[in-house]
Amino acid sequence: MRSLLKSAYQSDHALEVIFSSLRWFFLVLSIVVFSLQYFENPVQLKLNLFIYLVIFGILYMGVSDFYLHKSSAGSRMYNLMTKGGPLFDFIAFSALVPLTGGTESPLFPLAYLIILHVAVYWRFLGGVIAAFLFILVYSIIYFVQASGVYTLNGFIPYFSDVFFLLLIGGLGGIIVSRERKHHSEKNVLAEAANRDYLTNLLNHRSFQEDLRKDLEKHVDFYLVLTDIDKFKSINDRYGHVTGDKVLREIGAIMTSMLPKKQGKVYRYGGEEFALILYSDDQTKVNKLLVEIKQAVANHHFYCEGEAFSITMSFGSCKQNGEYPDQLVEKADKLLYEAKNQGRNQIVYPG
Ligand code: GH3
Ligand code: MG
Ligand code: MG
Repeated sequence: MRSLLKSAYQSDHALEVIFSSLRWFFLVLSIVVFSLQYFENPVQLKLNLFIYLVIFGILYMGVSDFYLHKSSAGSRMYNLMTKGGPLFDFIAFSALVPLTGGTESPLFPLAYLIILHVAVYWRFLGGVIAAFLFILVYSIIYFVQASGVYTLNGFIPYFSDVFFLLLIGGLGGIIVSRERKHHSEKNVLAEAANRDYLTNLLNHRSFQEDLRKDLEKHVDFYLVLTDIDKFKSINDRYGHVTGDKVLREIGAIMTSMLPKKQGKVYRYGGEEFALILYSDDQTKVNKLLVEIKQAVANHHFYCEGEAFSITMSFGSCKQNGEYPDQLVEKADKLLYEAKNQGRNQIVYPG
């Protein structure tokens, strides 16, 4: 239950799953409410309309559930079915309430739920517009029911219901907007804490955390430390601004060559990068590292129209149950060996 609440708090998809389950629940409840009322006062026309409504509901909810679970979040059908949901609910509500007692219908509070659902996507304005649409439908039902006989006793519940509909729309919208803003600010901060400002790669803190977690989970991976060869001379010759550009471009090259599932690229610090490669196959790891090494070496960097190239050295080792620091030290020694052996190469243990 706690995890369901947590995921509903964090993801629109989880919230949609809750809304779609509620629809099935309210379908059953509507059938119960309608049946009880029908047996007290059977009206054939009402029964026919209700049956059509239930069939329409089941069809819509079946299709919508299919897309909710089978299509990817963000696809056109997914959006149509989730964001279009409140429109369906509104139509169903407008037909259901007159069939189950009009303004006295026990299903009337569904309006509050539907308005809240609208506010999730369209915030304050959406909430208020939805509230007005419900007020319109409610007013029509009210005035048709009253059929010209108005009393103060009848008006008071009418105005109180209208007032609550508006309140839910307005306040619901404000609360959702506030929470969304808070949530997105939190995400921006979390992202900033995990990313390196210059290269936008994952930073040293992320590296240490991921390394520790992967080691704790006994995941098979290779740790690679890689360092730009003679980078100081690039800075000296072309300036630090160009040096920074080189770091960004190298980050982009490595990221583009590493599919997300195969591993991650980090800026370890300065002109050193770390790679965590999820594989236990040295041949595959080596193939990827050779490709990265070549891609960097073949890349043309520019400073005021002048092209230059750079090379990198790599130290690569498979995790073998070491502590994080031990593993980093091991990879660092291999990188050092690569430098000593003339740079522009990949070195493995033994
Ligand atoms: P080696 O092949 O032995 O690695 O030689 P190197 O010149 O690359 O190594 P060294 O450690 O002597 O120099 C690293 C240079 O990297 C020095 C430093 O100014 C530069 N550097 C570190 N971080 C940055 C950065 O963020 N931007 C720029 N432009 N330069 C940086
Ligand atoms: Mg260097
Ligand atoms: Mg260095």
